[in-house]
Amino acid sequence: MLSEFVKTADFKSEKHVPVIECADRVAAGQALGITVTVGKEIAHPNTTNHHIAWIALHYVPAGAKTSIEIGRCEFSAHGASVEGADKGPACTDSTLTIRAKLAASGTLYATAYCNIHGLWSSEKAVTVA
Ligand code: FE
Repeated sequence: MLSEFVKTADFKSEKHVPVIECADRVAAGQALGITVTVGKEIAHPNTTNHHIAWIALHYVPAGAKTSIEIGRCEFSAHGASVEGADKGPACTDSTLTIRAKLAASGTLYATAYCNIHGLWSSEKAVTVA
């Protein structure tokens, strides 16, 4: 299973781990602002050859058997240009910001993909009251 290759760790010591930031509690139906960042404590490289390609955010309501994809962001600019690698004028930061209305308590799961070091994930519980 692909899940065997999804790594996790403490984001304070491992630069690939996505960090989910949002309120711990939210009212049902109220928009919850969620930000997912890779490299919050230790910067991850953002070069043509080594970068975070995308972040996806899933939500699993308590007791559910299936995750729901809340959203995803592809980071497409990594310094490439006709002048060559790392000579371009744009690099996308690896941050996803999104809002979602949740009807039940559950867990948010962030997955980030580094083009060299693969898949990394983290999770955060959210209480919906
Ligand atoms: Fe990496």
